[in-house]
Amino acid sequence: EGKPLAGRVAVITGASRGIGEAAAEHLAGLGATVAVFARRADRLGELVARIEKDGGSALAVTVDVTDAAAVQAAAERVQAELGGADLLFNNAGIMLPAPVEERATEQWQHQIDLNITGLMNAIGAFTPQLGAAGAERGVADLINTSSIAAQNIFPNFAVYSGTKAYVSHLSRHLRAELGPKNVRVSAIEPGIVGTELQSHVTDEGALEWLDGSKQTMEWLTPDDVAQAVGFIATQPPRVNFQQVTIMPTAQT
Ligand code: NDP
Repeated sequence: EGKPLAGRVAVITGASRGIGEAAAEHLAGLGATVAVFARRADRLGELVARIEKDGGSALAVTVDVTDAAAVQAAAERVQAELGGADLLFNNAGIMLPAPVEERATEQWQHQIDLNITGLMNAIGAFTPQLGAAGAERGVADLINTSSIAAQNIFPNFAVYSGTKAYVSHLSRHLRAELGPKNVRVSAIEPGIVGTELQSHVTDEGALEWLDGSKQTMEWLTPDDVAQAVGFIATQPPRVNFQQVTIMPTAQT
């Protein structure tokens, strides 16, 4: 089997839609067995069927990543059924911009619960498997989805941007901690990608801003980001892309 990720087992969170779905298809095409995590079982079932039809191998795991016990149980299932993960694409997330004075506390909490706590639940549950793969095979990958919002200033995106700054800085620290154990850690920071992410936004001003952006530039596609994930994962074991920023060409 000559595929670059043959023999590897990749867990992808937020895989029922958008970037995660595209990454699952791409990594499976590169030869990895993929375990796809999200809450919507029907969408995961369709994704697995598509991957298998294309000759790939996939396992659907219906799980809410904000539930630590459920993520732990899912990790045990990946260990039992697939022999453990050597790649975690930690990608589930939500973006709910609004002016801070609107005090949309439920939306603040939702973003913190998913983008930070959900991310940490997956890191906690899968670090033992990644560490074992690093020790046994000499390479494993933890790829976290951050955002250009971690670096740039977007008015009314303070809470979302704060969660993504957490993801980027956490990734730098974990790289220093896990790199010596052959676990590469990367943060991927996309600019705007056309997905379901925008459909959850309720704030009128933010919706107008997004609509204006869509009129004036061509957004990235989920597959554009998936290609970057595949590029990171197919490097020789000595090569670790610490941070990859990928932007629509016209986004400033
Ligand atoms: P989508 O809304 O298209 O996909 C989000 C995915 O996360 C879905 O599969 C959803 O599935 C899953 N998800 C949501 N909540 C949970 C949960 N509690 N437990 C498990 N899975 C969950 O968004 P994108 O693909 O755009 O976003 C993916 C990542 O990329 C996010 O972290 C986002 O912040 C980041 N990003 C996106 C950008 C963009 O412009 N689109 C730009 C920069 C970063 P389900 O509902 O079935 O659970």
